[in-house]
Amino acid sequence: MDWRNRSGVAPLFLVLVGVLVVIVLVGGVSFFAFRGAKKVVQVPEDVCQCQDLADIENRIKEAAAGAGAFAKMANAQAAADAAAGTTTMYTDALYLQGKNVAQAAVNAAHTSGAGTGSGETGSDCTTEVTAPTECLRAGLQSHENVHSATCDALKAAGKVGRLGDYKFTMSIADYWRNEVAAYSEEMNYLGRQLARLKSDPACKPKTAVKVETYPGSTSKETQQERLAGAVRRVTSYVSGII
Ligand SMILES: [Zn+2]
Repeated sequence: MDWRNRSGVAPLFLVLVGVLVVIVLVGGVSFFAFRGAKKVVQVPEDVCQCQDLADIENRIKEAAAGAGAFAKMANAQAAADAAAGTTTMYTDALYLQGKNVAQAAVNAAHTSGAGTGSGETGSDCTTEVTAPTECLRAGLQSHENVHSATCDALKAAGKVGRLGDYKFTMSIADYWRNEVAAYSEEMNYLGRQLARLKSDPACKPKTAVKVETYPGSTSKETQQERLAGAVRRVTSYVSGII
């Protein structure tokens, strides 16, 4: 190796460090932009199509069942708290207990064969939605957006609970009410899509196709045409072999 060229190594090293810095910066910005985008996500009004109608109708029933179950729990808890003169705060145990009751109601409302999904809002206010279609994802996202906005608002007001989880700053009754609001938002979104698609002529069941009269038809005219065609074919075949 010619060590007289060693001075060329330093600029090369600087270039490599520069490239590395750019990679880290671009990666970091994309990472935070991605995380930021997953908080409250704008839900478009045009992603649901005719083929989503059955899923929409099913999910509206599920959401109504979920909202009903949470409303019942919120009212019962608020009444018990008022009677006892206390406020029962959010706990993981109460959350799981209520979530299971609501999930059972949602499952009971499910129409067999329809697509459905689930969503989650983390203690960092980011949302995660899992569903088989863009339409269901949009509906579930509108639900999680309610939780995410509540999370952001509480954190902005300095209300950060245990392990940074906003839910620990809420009474359990208020948390159940937040679920009612989230399910209501989802029902509103899907209700608008249902109304739009139901009035769309493209989503109407197709009218029966007019029955073709030619094959096996008893129409006199058609039979005569077929006979004439057969005679022509036989004639040309016969003249061919003579
Ligand atoms: Zn929810």
